[in-house]
Amino acid sequence: MRTDRRGVLRAGTVAVAGLAAGVGLLPGPRASAEGLRAAPETAPGSTVGPVGTPALALARLEAGNAAWVAGRVVHPDSSAARRRDVATHQEPFAVVFTCIDSRVPPELVFDQGLGDLMVIRTAAHTADGLVTGSLEYGPAELGAKLLVVMGHQRCGAVTAAVRSFRTGERLPGHLADIGQDLRGPYEEARRTAPAEALVDAVIRAQTRQTVARLRRDALLRPLVEAGKLEVVGGYYSLDTGEVTFGR
Ligand SMILES: [Zn+2]
Repeated sequence: MRTDRRGVLRAGTVAVAGLAAGVGLLPGPRASAEGLRAAPETAPGSTVGPVGTPALALARLEAGNAAWVAGRVVHPDSSAARRRDVATHQEPFAVVFTCIDSRVPPELVFDQGLGDLMVIRTAAHTADGLVTGSLEYGPAELGAKLLVVMGHQRCGAVTAAVRSFRTGERLPGHLADIGQDLRGPYEEARRTAPAEALVDAVIRAQTRQTVARLRRDALLRPLVEAGKLEVVGGYYSLDTGEVTFGR
């Protein structure tokens, strides 16, 4: 029990530091990590107050990812008290749309807990109407301030799709639907990327095109224009654990 309580205390520290880091300039991940270590311990319990702006939401994800990269995760918002707090309502501050890859779980790589993130995952973060509806839900209905579209290093789905485009061999079953959704990013990437860098270029093009499409989305666009929502791209490095935003 003592160990659990210390964990809760550290969780409180992280959220306060993350919020403080979001005031003013957005710091890089390392600056946020310094803030985490320097912050005094605060009262235990729920770490989450309202995250009022897209910039604060981004700062909080940056701080969580910095903790992940540094091996200093605190697993905030994972207590029984937190579970009770959010049992009857939810106010996730961010939506994360990423790949199904088993090595890219958003709650871990951003060090967040119960009720913090709304997560939608499909292979290579491909989307149809059903998926887009799920992406709209958090910002439009629950007030989420940030939508992160996150590709990742060495994406297997993109690798398979690129191989299929190159050989003309159709992917089996419904995997073909995933491949089809990656056709646009593939066409964009192959105009400029050398062959050995093509998979990575497609991953980044897929993220860029998805961000652009979501910013034009009928439900999301008014929120973006009003400053109530930001849609950002991210890239997760399997090697380092770091998320680079804006790519
Ligand atoms: Zn993937």
